[in-house]
Amino acid sequence: MEKAGAWKCLRCGICCTKLDVMVTPDEERRLEKYGDVFERGRVLVYLRKVKGRCIFLENGNCAIYPERPMACVKYPFYFKSKGDAESRFDGIHVYVDSSCPGVVLGNHSEAIVNILEDLMKNL
Ligand code: SF4
Ligand code: SF4
Repeated sequence: MEKAGAWKCLRCGICCTKLDVMVTPDEERRLEKYGDVFERGRVLVYLRKVKGRCIFLENGNCAIYPERPMACVKYPFYFKSKGDAESRFDGIHVYVDSSCPGVVLGNHSEAIVNILEDLMKNL
């Protein structure tokens, strides 16, 4: 298993096409003012994609950036706690999607620790 050493968003927009953005019930209520923007799975709700891109991606920018779902805020990181689906460890574990081009693998930097600590305040 490789470890993330650093990360900086390069604003490439890849995650806005690649990511299936899950929305929580609170986020769904907050975003329903935008109309038919959801895809409903059997259990979970996601942002709808149009031509393979998130419905909110406009000219390479997120049209709802200040209120985008936490899945977007946290990407490329995923947090799992004991009891979560697919969680195999005690405590909180952080996973990173290394296909994000902003991820640098290697020994962790102080900057990435600060980013993760900030994100964990919103778990
Ligand atoms: S894929 Fe990574 S670098 Fe590109 S916009 Fe998303 S988070 Fe930023
Ligand atoms: S909500 Fe915004 S940040 Fe999230 S995938 Fe859609 S366009 Fe990208």
